[in-house]
Amino acid sequence: MGTVIQFKVYGKNAEKATTEAVKRVSDIDKKMSVNIQTSEVSKLNAKAGVSRQKLSIDTYSVIEKSIAYSKLTGGALDATIEPIVKLWGIGTDKERVPSKTEINEKLKLVDYKDIISDKKNSTIMLGRTNQAIDLGAIAKGYTADEVKKVLLSNKISSAIINLGGNVYALGNKLDGTSWNIGIQNPLSTRGEYLGTINVTDKSIVTSGNYERFFIKDGVRYHHIFDPKNGYPADKGVISTTIVSDKSIDGDALSTSTYILGLDKGLKLVESIKGVEAIFITNDKKVYVTPGLKDSFELTDKEFTYEKGR
Ligand code: ADP
Ligand code: MG
Repeated sequence: MGTVIQFKVYGKNAEKATTEAVKRVSDIDKKMSVNIQTSEVSKLNAKAGVSRQKLSIDTYSVIEKSIAYSKLTGGALDATIEPIVKLWGIGTDKERVPSKTEINEKLKLVDYKDIISDKKNSTIMLGRTNQAIDLGAIAKGYTADEVKKVLLSNKISSAIINLGGNVYALGNKLDGTSWNIGIQNPLSTRGEYLGTINVTDKSIVTSGNYERFFIKDGVRYHHIFDPKNGYPADKGVISTTIVSDKSIDGDALSTSTYILGLDKGLKLVESIKGVEAIFITNDKKVYVTPGLKDSFELTDKEFTYEKGR
């Protein structure tokens, strides 16, 4: 998955549960990674405009979810963003700022409405040649939910699942108190927090411009793209955190609210029951939805807490 994975698992079956969980992660990665040529997603992409690909329930359901969020967000999330992701090559040795012409050329291929799905037969086909699916915005969330299932089936009731910042806090700490999850300070290096959030059985997913990026002529180019123009999303938000029951929802929503920006992003989150959010803007303001008022604590005084939202 191109990231660091950390599990903290407590209880009698911890070792066995962890081994099984790691296997499950690798199983999902082998099905969904665009960097693995034999993955189902790679096969599906290779057949774009030509024929259908039969998919496992895992891959089918993640693509289905990605389409649902593409619709819900008015195309801020787009499962067919791959040609743009590849063009920029952020995080690879091919990263560069492409020309506007190149971007516009690739943008023509980005449209989730061209995905032809057949639930009964579990097949998917991309309507046009050279179109391609990328599940990077949502697959880690799905994986976290699946890891949780593996842990629960091993009777684990206390664990932290962390897939590169995509966190699920299972149960409570061993002493019975709730988990304290650090929220990354988007302006500093990994591991420095601007605040903490207190949770039990919740997914906490953050999307930020610090995850994967390069700097050219003083401009930071990061890996979350706005399908409206093909450039890294730039709506004044530098980090969005979603707190939810299911991590796949958190992952999809953290990426899409980042793209939508503060106003539209908050509106979207407020319209979905059981989903809470923390938005951090480039002027160092922190916006928190009402449901997190008591559980979120801002510790870094460089940032200011915006009330009244
Ligand atoms: P991270 O991978 O850092 O946790 P995200 O969950 O926000 O971050 O997902 C970013 C990834 O999602 C990108 O690396 C890319 O693969 C994919 N992506 C980027 N922009 C979009 C978009 N508009 N719609 C769907 N997927 C996207
Ligand atoms: Mg995401």
